[in-house]
Amino acid sequence: MKDAAHRLAWALEVCRRAQMRPTPIREKILAFLTASRIPVSLEALMQADGIRGRCNATTAYRTLMLFQGLEVIRQVSLPNKNSYFVLNLPGESNHFLICRCCGQLVELPAAESVALLEREVAAAQGYTKLHHELQFFGICPACQKHPPGVVCAKLQPRMRRGQLKTVLEKAN
Ligand SMILES: [Zn+2]
Repeated sequence: MKDAAHRLAWALEVCRRAQMRPTPIREKILAFLTASRIPVSLEALMQADGIRGRCNATTAYRTLMLFQGLEVIRQVSLPNKNSYFVLNLPGESNHFLICRCCGQLVELPAAESVALLEREVAAAQGYTKLHHELQFFGICPACQKHPPGVVCAKLQPRMRRGQLKTVLEKAN
């Protein structure tokens, strides 16, 4: 498992090779993404130190799309329908445990059995550059303490549909 500095160096190198112009905000966004071991939402990115108040959602979203185009990051689908992004470092597949109640996301250690399965699939199908996502869903220990039927207070704020639509329209 690579540390944040190695992950950032890799991401910057990919951008440099693609001749993407480094801007302070792009570097801040990359630094935030490379420091995070779990997928991050646009909302979380907008609240990060060094990014908050320095760029709008459209710029941040466009930047994420640029990084995605270079395969520096990839989009992760989570059940709450928000868009999440995670570093696309080769060989780094992400295994997560997700609370169905509060949405807490926990990174799980890489499992050799899953890596073996990936190699087998690649060999059998003739594919290269595989990655996979493995998500387990359950109820976290804190949420297990709620009485039945009580809505979790920690429920992550969701970007309203209209808001996301506006961001996407502006980005296009
Ligand atoms: Zn929970």
